[in-house]
Amino acid sequence: MVVQHPSKTLRAPRAIIFDTDNTLYAYEEPHAQATAATEAKAVRLLGADLESVRSAFAQARSDVKKQLGACASSHSRLLYFQRGIEILGRKTQLLITLDLEQTYWRTFLSHCSLYPGVRELLTNLRNRDIATAIITDLTSQIQFRKIVYFGLDDCFDYVVTSEEAGADKPDPAPFELAIQKLGIEPHEIWMVGDSPRCDVEGANRFGMTTLLRVDRAAGDASSQIADIVFDDFQELDRFLFSGKVHGLAA
Ligand SMILES: [Mg+2]
Repeated sequence: MVVQHPSKTLRAPRAIIFDTDNTLYAYEEPHAQATAATEAKAVRLLGADLESVRSAFAQARSDVKKQLGACASSHSRLLYFQRGIEILGRKTQLLITLDLEQTYWRTFLSHCSLYPGVRELLTNLRNRDIATAIITDLTSQIQFRKIVYFGLDDCFDYVVTSEEAGADKPDPAPFELAIQKLGIEPHEIWMVGDSPRCDVEGANRFGMTTLLRVDRAAGDASSQIADIVFDDFQELDRFLFSGKVHGLAA
């Protein structure tokens, strides 16, 4: 863990906001497993070859993102699969589209696991009356399901999705909505996320204290904008309650 600006006094937060994807759990492995399962099913249901399915789905993802810009539905697997099947020349196939979407998320969730220490940190924050919230980019249905799947549904005071806010981070809208729900001044809020641009820069603009989760805290250039860079929630938890944060007793 690296505290980037040791001269700046770290004061106890009244609230901590967490990103979800690739912050509370590792995203790449479940995504890879879910993609493989979906491609195999598409090959079977559509009678197309794997290479065509892969290229059509990649094209579909890029087309949907271009069409929608940075908002929740630009990440919708339902839209990607619908468009991918259309690109394969099969017109709109609703049943197969719904089936692929279910397959994707079912496989994804079954390969997801929280990073060690996440639950303990959330419990410790709650025990000290520090409010907790989530700001996450995607549609509410699947993000709610993920949080429930992890058994964290009673660990957060508020959840804000980009579907609810109308735009993805780093747009100010989801941050403004979370601040409004919490009713706490931004300078008393910490933001934890894995994206230097979306989470850290987005929250820095409001004057929050920012924490970047990385796979290995080595201190590269993109990390410099965060106040703290860490790769281990257990270490972060120990640091928070070590007496080094002003106002948080050990
Ligand atoms: Mg993330």
